[in-house]
Amino acid sequence: MTAILKAANLHKSYRMGQARLDVLKGLDLTVARGEFVAIVGASGSGKSTLLHILGGLDKPDTGHVEFNGRRVDRFGPGQLNRFRNRKVGFVFQFYHLLDELNVLDNVLLPAMAAVGTLGWLARRPSARKRAAELLEQVGLAERIGHKPYQLSGGERQRVAIARALMNDPELLLADEPTGNLDSKTGNGILEILENLNRRGQTIVMVTHDDRMAAKANRTIRLADGRIV
Ligand code: ADP
Ligand code: MG
Repeated sequence: MTAILKAANLHKSYRMGQARLDVLKGLDLTVARGEFVAIVGASGSGKSTLLHILGGLDKPDTGHVEFNGRRVDRFGPGQLNRFRNRKVGFVFQFYHLLDELNVLDNVLLPAMAAVGTLGWLARRPSARKRAAELLEQVGLAERIGHKPYQLSGGERQRVAIARALMNDPELLLADEPTGNLDSKTGNGILEILENLNRRGQTIVMVTHDDRMAAKANRTIRLADGRIV
C-alpha cells in the first residue's frame, strides 16, 4: 500500500480563557492512494479540526502529517502554499464561493492563484477550457454565467467541487459536503464523489451522517480525540 497521507500522534487543543479544550489527543491515521475514506464523528468531535490539519490549513500542537512521505510541518512557506493550492482540494459544508464572481470565475480562482498575474495571461485560455469541462462533468454546463446566489444549494456544492478539482489535486478533502443539503441532493453530491474516486481520486470526507459515510470504501470513527 502506498500511503498518500499519514498523520502521526496529532494533538490539538484550544484555549478558551482559563479552560483548555483538548480536541485531538494522539490521533493516528493513514490513507492509501486511491482510497475514499469517510471519517464520522459527533458534532464537536474535532472532524473539521482534523481535516484542516491534514490539508495544511492548520497546525497540530504536536505530532505531524506526512504527504507522500514528506513532512508537511517541514515545508517552507512557498512549499506550503503550493501544497494547499495544488496538491489538496477542499470542499466545505457552506461552499465558500465568492458571490461577486460568476460560476466559471469561481472555478478558475485556484488556477489564478497558482500562477500569479503575469503567468495568468498565458494560462487563461487552457484554464477556462478545463473549468468549463469540470463544470460540465458536475452537470452545470448551463450555469457558468450564474452567480452563486442564483443557484440551489446542491448546485453551489457542485461548483465548489469543480473548484476543488481545478488544479488536479492528488487529495480531495471534503468537510460535511452534504451537511447543508436535503438527502436527495446530498446523494447526488455523493455520487459525484464516488465517480471521482472510481477514476482514481483519493478522497477524505468527514461527516456526521452514517448513511453518507457508508458510500466510502472505508469508514473510521473519531471519538474522544482519536480514531476508534
Ligand atoms: P466538528 O467538525 O467535529 O464538529 P470541530 O473540529 O469544528 O468539530 O471542533 C471541535 C471542538 O473544538 C468543538 O468543541 C469546537 O467548539 C472547538 N473549536 C473549534 N475551533 C475552535 C477555535 N478556533 N477556538 C476554540 N475552540 C474551537
Ligand atoms: Mg465540522
